[in-house]
Amino acid sequence: MKIVVLKFGGTSVGTIKKIKKVAKIIADYKKKNYKVIVVSSAMSGVTNDLVKKSSKISENFSNSEHDVLVSSGEQVACSLIAGRLIHNGYKSRSWLSWQIPIITLGAHKNSRINKINKNKILKYLNEGGIPVITGFQGVNIENRITTIGRGGSDASAIMLAKFFNAERCIIYTDVEGVYTTDPNKLKKAKKIKIISYEEMLEMASLGAKVMQPVSIQDARLNRIDVEVKSSFKKKSGTLITKRSNIINNKIVTGISSTQNDSKVSLIGVKDKPGVAASIFKPLSKNLINVDMVVQNISANGKETDLTFTIKTEDLNKTKKIIQENKDINYRKLLFEKGVSKISVIGVGMITTPGVTFRMFQSLASKKINIKVISTSEIKISVLIDKKDTKKAIVALHKEFKLNNKK
Ligand code: ASP
Ligand code: MG
Repeated sequence: MKIVVLKFGGTSVGTIKKIKKVAKIIADYKKKNYKVIVVSSAMSGVTNDLVKKSSKISENFSNSEHDVLVSSGEQVACSLIAGRLIHNGYKSRSWLSWQIPIITLGAHKNSRINKINKNKILKYLNEGGIPVITGFQGVNIENRITTIGRGGSDASAIMLAKFFNAERCIIYTDVEGVYTTDPNKLKKAKKIKIISYEEMLEMASLGAKVMQPVSIQDARLNRIDVEVKSSFKKKSGTLITKRSNIINNKIVTGISSTQNDSKVSLIGVKDKPGVAASIFKPLSKNLINVDMVVQNISANGKETDLTFTIKTEDLNKTKKIIQENKDINYRKLLFEKGVSKISVIGVGMITTPGVTFRMFQSLASKKINIKVISTSEIKISVLIDKKDTKKAIVALHKEFKLNNKK
């Protein structure tokens, strides 16, 4: 018999009515003769609320108590789901992480699942039971409750799928899947039927809203097929899987965009070893996330220009850090707020020449100026004026035929 892991996000279990619906979804899999492992997040809003309470008790609320507190929402949701399944005549029970146990390593608030003991759950599955397991939480070797980072019940589900060799892990949420671009920005966005782990990771701005990025990486490393779908609509979702499972002739799978980026340029920095390191070291020390980095070729062999992007909220801090950096010299320092990064993503571009050209031409035809370009094997990103974002997405979505139903 095959095992399937069904994970329900906060919005899917947000009300009693929704939990009753979830119990029906679970029962459907049971009727199809699957062994079903259920993982649940807390009812929506509950975790945030608990975090708020902790900060009212103390500004320095203990990390170990934080984990006990904020993981309690999952206990409530799991018990309600199991209770409903029992009400409907199924054998079910809730399992807290320490009862299994799900062993974690690392610091409180940000632990990682290291091992899951299978014995009790396997026995229960073989007896026909439906275990409903708390996502997000674990227990460490000191027998203390831990949590694995906000949004962590996705990672719990992926790791359960890994340890139990599940055929598939299904992530139920409030969206229908991953879209070719943000459907809030472009009505013509289409649901993607199948996408590779690598593309999903690159589509951070789209993907991250759907699934916690580290859990996608876990799925990739362990080769677990993940389906993201809505718990409210009976429609197929998006399958995230390995590249070799994907047969289609799409060149570009999706288009993502960022908001509120800023561009920083250092003009006339010395072209010698160690300069870039001296610029970025203090930025990384101050946890400033540097995104695109481009360095011009040095025309005279002595000086070059270096440009990078950051989040606009980090702009003032970045300015200060660069101006106070005694290890670097430059002729001019330029800043530009209000830029946006548009990326076209697709494994198809590895084997298809001309994607870069098509992207640039398409933007040019709309008179959109490209400020910075960077590429990777499966992604081309350009930096443009923020005001052109929508126009660029519309043009590229059309150019790469994403408007067409697949
Ligand atoms: N309830 C936890 C959170 O809100 C875990 C999760 O939702 O996955 O972060
Ligand atoms: Mg959640």
